Amino acid sequence: MSRPWRYYLHKLWLGLALRCPNCGQGRMFSGLFSMEKTCPHCDVRYERLSGESIGGMFINLGLAEVISVFGFFAIQLAFNPPMLPHILFWVAFNILFVLLFYRHARGLWVAINYLSSGVYADRN
Ligand SMILES: [Zn+2]
Repeated sequence: MSRPWRYYLHKLWLGLALRCPNCGQGRMFSGLFSMEKTCPHCDVRYERLSGESIGGMFINLGLAEVISVFGFFAIQLAFNPPMLPHILFWVAFNILFVLLFYRHARGLWVAINYLSSGVYADRN
């Protein structure tokens, strides 16, 4: 049975907003970089396999590179700035973006995993 597209967008949004994609209540992160293993509200396990967070890193790095490449060429074509400060700007942008988007990329990955039935409570 297929669900309306708004259901999928809502689950992805919950992941981006660092909320549990299952209940929408539990927070995924307890600290700046420390992710909860299970939802404090509904007990679903966010990451089941070791190394599962690599999907989030792919999202994070991939998005940083896409934005950087398009941004670099757009500014280069529009303003033709001196090359060294321009490159240094995009290096700094990459470092900041990857740090600031880290939690959201992991949350988004958990939501994608949830939509593909990979996030559920442990069975006792
Ligand atoms: Zn939950």
